[in-house]
Amino acid sequence: MVKIIPVADARTSRAGSFPATDAPHVAPTGLLADTHGRALRDLRISVTDRCNFRCVYCMPKDVFGHDYPFLPHAELLTFEEIARLARIFRAHGIEKIRLTGGEPLLRKHLERLIAMLADIGGLDLTLTTNGAALAAKARELKAAGLNRITVSLDALDDGVFRAMNDVDFPVAKVLEGIDAAAEAGLAPVKINMVVKRGVNEREILPMARRFKGSGHVLRFIEYMDVGHTNGWRMDDVVPSAEVIRSIGREMPLEPVDPNYAGEVAERWRYVDGDGEIGVISSVTQAFCRDCTRARLATDGKLYTCLFATTGYDLRALLRGGSSDAQIGNYVAAIWLQRADRYSEIRSENTVALPKIEMSYIGG
Ligand code: SAM
Repeated sequence: MVKIIPVADARTSRAGSFPATDAPHVAPTGLLADTHGRALRDLRISVTDRCNFRCVYCMPKDVFGHDYPFLPHAELLTFEEIARLARIFRAHGIEKIRLTGGEPLLRKHLERLIAMLADIGGLDLTLTTNGAALAAKARELKAAGLNRITVSLDALDDGVFRAMNDVDFPVAKVLEGIDAAAEAGLAPVKINMVVKRGVNEREILPMARRFKGSGHVLRFIEYMDVGHTNGWRMDDVVPSAEVIRSIGREMPLEPVDPNYAGEVAERWRYVDGDGEIGVISSVTQAFCRDCTRARLATDGKLYTCLFATTGYDLRALLRGGSSDAQIGNYVAAIWLQRADRYSEIRSENTVALPKIEMSYIGG
């Protein structure tokens, strides 16, 4: 097999010489498996590295300030380029696309991209948003072909939420967005809460009470050491087991089987039948062995792990005249040699390794 040499090791590094087009032909059977036998099934696409929130654990203001060099528009993949790549990935086995960022709803005319992706057929189309613009956009997203949506919401208490998003954005507007999404048929709406010790752990029970019986699925995410900027420490992580114990004491829970192999969230349902919650234990119970996900960063670099430091420049191929078959072969070669399992080998030592910011690689 051809050894693929990553062309860039960080967002800002310059691409070197480009070695991709001699990758051997791999028929797009949809059956690619990496060195640990993991199939390629999901693609996360960051459609913008910009966000209108400055969540303290993700895009802290002191780093992502007014002078932060976000990517210029010409460096972003166009909708046509994204759709072309999506077709190529579909042929190699992906079944699901999640649009993310940054804040995906900041990308102008996103519904056009959704419609283009829906045209490909056979793809489960989802999107993760902070919900700020959702009340206004839920219907058009659904009409364009979006199947489901995940909304991030870290607290119900308005003061805690405003402090966490750090742009003084009110909870009420996100709740409106969640209602609008459900009404538009983007249900069940998933609600993601990142739990950070000492910051919003007191919000676990109010959030659980609020969404129990609502038809939405609340999911608690362990705070991760993504990027360089959030100053992560293991002490900041609230383990999922603790979340489950604390909710279960007041509202008894029982485990549920996963919907499909490789499902990221572990499912729990209320014993009284009032719905379910999920926990995403990326730190205390890493799930690398089931990871079927690739990530397309805002500028078209492909990463095979959220914690990767090297990206493969697909935009250079797209803009350099490569055929679909050549790009497909390159993608296949990258996947076939994939070996990452960062979360399983995470330690106090790996935390210091260079990493890419989540807003760029796509959360
Ligand atoms: N702007 C969108 C949003 O707010 O959902 C999409 C991008 S955001 C990076 C995607 C998700 O990543 C959010 O649910 C966010 O809370 C989560 N996230 C960001 N940094 C994180 C971290 N260090 N650990 C765990 N989750 C994180």
